[in-house]
Amino acid sequence: MASYPAQIARLFERSPFYRNKLRAAGFGSAADVGGLERIAELPFTEKDELRRSQAEHPPLGEHAAIAIAEAARIYSTSGTSGAPLYLPLTRNDVEQWREIGHRTYSRNGLKAGERVVTTYGAGPFVAGASLAAFEAIGTVHIPTGVGNTEKVLAALERLQPEALACTPSYALYLSEKVKTHALQRIIVGGEPGGGEASFRDRLQQAWGCKVYEIMGIGDIAASLWGECPAQAGMHFSAEEFIHVELIDPDSGKSVEMKDGVTGELVYTHLEREAAPLLRFRSRDHVQVWTSRCACGRTSLRARCIGRTDDMLIVRGVNVFPSAVREVVARFQPRVTGAILIRPRSRGVKQEPPLPVLVEGDPEMAERISAEIRAALTFTPQVRMVPPQSLPRSDYKSRLVDFSEAG
Ligand SMILES: [Zn+2]
Repeated sequence: MASYPAQIARLFERSPFYRNKLRAAGFGSAADVGGLERIAELPFTEKDELRRSQAEHPPLGEHAAIAIAEAARIYSTSGTSGAPLYLPLTRNDVEQWREIGHRTYSRNGLKAGERVVTTYGAGPFVAGASLAAFEAIGTVHIPTGVGNTEKVLAALERLQPEALACTPSYALYLSEKVKTHALQRIIVGGEPGGGEASFRDRLQQAWGCKVYEIMGIGDIAASLWGECPAQAGMHFSAEEFIHVELIDPDSGKSVEMKDGVTGELVYTHLEREAAPLLRFRSRDHVQVWTSRCACGRTSLRARCIGRTDDMLIVRGVNVFPSAVREVVARFQPRVTGAILIRPRSRGVKQEPPLPVLVEGDPEMAERISAEIRAALTFTPQVRMVPPQSLPRSDYKSRLVDFSEAG
C-alpha cells in the first residue's frame, strides 16, 4: 500500500520515539524499512512503551507525530492496568474513525431511517467517537448515555427502535428489566462475550432477536470490526487505513492468515496523523477467516477468543479462561455459568491439572472435566462450589485468581 512508505518517512521525521526505535533495530532510514511485505522485520510496539513515552515526555509522548495544537480531539484510555494514556486525533483522524465506524455499523445491518438506541458516553473513552458513525449512516439516533437504565427502557418502549447498541453485560442486565420492545438486532461491543456462543444464545433467547458483535481498540480505532447478519465472525472495516497481522503471542512469530488459524492481532496505522503506531500488540487473541463470507464480502473476519494477558499455558497448550467459561456454560442450568481458575503457581506456564472452580450441581464435576479435556485439550481439576459463591462484579471481572498460587 502506497501510504505505508510515506507513513514510515513521516515517523522518521516527526516521531522521536519511532526514529530511535527503528534506528536501534538497524533501520537507518525509511528506505531501509522497505515495503509492507517486510513489516515482520520491524520491532513491536507495546502499550507500556507508550505509557512510558507519555510519562517521560508530556503531554502526548515522544511517539506522537504532531504538536498538541494540531490535535482536534484527545481521548484517554481507562487506565485499568496502569496510568491512563492520552490518545490524540487530528481532524483527518477523526474523519477516518467516522468512516471506519460507518462501515462497521453498516455491516451490522443498520440502515438509514432505522431507529437505534445507543448507550455510549461522549467521552473520555473512544467509544464516544462511534456516535458520529450512526449519523453518518443516516439512522435515527437515540443516545441515552452510560448507565441510564430508565432512559433506555423508556426509549425501547415508547420510540420502538429497531436496534440497540451496548455492552453484552448491559444487554443481559436490560433483558431482565425490559417489558416490551420492537428490537430486530442488538449490537454488542466494548468487552468480550458477544462472540461466545453460549452467552450469545442466552442473549438472543432473552431478547428474541439477533445479536451482532463489534470490536475496536482505543489505541488504533474505535469500532474497527463489525459482524454481518451471517454471524460468522466480525468483518475488518479499515483495510486501506490499518494493516493487520497475526502473531503467536509466545514467540512473536508471524502466523499466516488463513481460514481457522488463531493468534494475537497486531496493528499498523497506514494513515493516522496524530499518534501513529507500528506493529502495536493488541493482546486480543482471535480466530480469523479469509474465505468469502455468506454475505458475499471477502474482508478478513475475526472472532475474539480472549485476552493474551489472561492466557495460561498448560503443558504447551494455550488456555483462555473465557474459553473454559464457554465450555462450562454448555451445562446450564445445572451450572450458573460462573467459573474461577485458581492456578497453583505464579506465571503463565502451569502444570496440569489446572484447578477450576465451577458454580453448580456437585455431581457435575466429572462430566465438566471430560468436556473441558475434550474441547480444550488440557486436564482441569474441576471443583464444584455453591451457586453465587464466586466473585462477580460484572461480566468483565477477571477469571483467574493467583491469590492462592505458591
Ligand atoms: Zn459477512
